[in-house]
Amino acid sequence: MSEALRAMPAGAGKLTIRDVTAYAVSFPVDAAGSVQLGVGRTVKRDAVVVKVTTECGLVGFGESHHGRAHTTIAHFINTALRDMALGQDAGDTVGLWRKIYKSQLQGMGLGAACVLAMSGLDMALWDIRGKAAGLPLYRLLGAQRRALPAYAGGVALGWQEPELLADEAQRHVESGLKAVKLRIGDTPERDLARIRAVRKRLGDGIEILTDAMMSYRLDDARKVVPAMDELGVGWLEEPFAAHDYQNYETARAFGRVAFAAGENHYTRFEFTRLLETNAVSILQPDLSKAGGITEVLRIAALASAYHLPVHLHSSMTGINMAATIHVMTALDNAGYFEADVSRNNHFRDTLVRMPYRVDAEGCVHAPDGPGLGVEVDEDFIAAHPPIEGPAYR
Ligand SMILES: [Mg+2]
Repeated sequence: MSEALRAMPAGAGKLTIRDVTAYAVSFPVDAAGSVQLGVGRTVKRDAVVVKVTTECGLVGFGESHHGRAHTTIAHFINTALRDMALGQDAGDTVGLWRKIYKSQLQGMGLGAACVLAMSGLDMALWDIRGKAAGLPLYRLLGAQRRALPAYAGGVALGWQEPELLADEAQRHVESGLKAVKLRIGDTPERDLARIRAVRKRLGDGIEILTDAMMSYRLDDARKVVPAMDELGVGWLEEPFAAHDYQNYETARAFGRVAFAAGENHYTRFEFTRLLETNAVSILQPDLSKAGGITEVLRIAALASAYHLPVHLHSSMTGINMAATIHVMTALDNAGYFEADVSRNNHFRDTLVRMPYRVDAEGCVHAPDGPGLGVEVDEDFIAAHPPIEGPAYR
């Protein structure tokens, strides 16, 4: 064996998958931490954590978005996907993605459950690949550590009285962030009152982004979009359901504010359709939803060909947040990182230790350990079994 081969880390060869286990986890949200959004008021948080172990003893973690059916997603991983993954090479992320695509997506459609499930599995494999190579994920993907601008997002900045919302937005700006995302999708009048109050409080130097969480009708958008242009809003996210392509195209004529979408679009195939509308210019795939790191790299390349930025969505656990920063560090068309400013998110602060901090310039940096660079507290998982029922009421 050559010197070069002898110098390879022990795990950098074949990484046979020995085990795959998904855990559905939950914690209740008390009244003080609850936020009213376009999809309801938060009453609990759910997540799905995926653990993959290789024959050589490496362990990788990923997150599948819960899809409002966290125990179902975990069960799907622990049965169908586990069967397909055991004995496969964890380093062959493209091959395993193709195998699942052929078995499930090609014939059964791009329905969310399988894509959510395979997203967490794929993320765990990339964690293993980084650990096997002894490199942080962003290095594995071909990048240097660099600052990424972040905005105040996550489950926060909801349907409050305008002045209370301005108070909250101001606190986030005082912590260093230069952009905030407001949850709208209430009535056009109340939404615009909130945006006006925040603009007045923060001045013109702070970017205001908005998210209607699919709650608008065309007439709502007709009223809101021209006013958003006057108020200098940076983007209007998901005014309509992900599949209402016609509405996005019709509403495009109402004004100039950029439309954002993608957190509820799956795989490069749905993003191709989204790009072809020419109505959405801010793309927001989520690594834990759209098909994992393997697939989001493809989606980002597609967007790059259209000269469009990619602002990855993330909201639940620090596992996905860390992965998101790594991947965005390595994209040449990365936009904002969505910094989760929600209160008491134990999936961000305790399941893993908070994987980033916002600096004085409003930027974040990727963790520097191998793989995703986070340590998952398995005692936390054991102590937080799933709670059934809706997360929003
Ligand atoms: Mg959103």
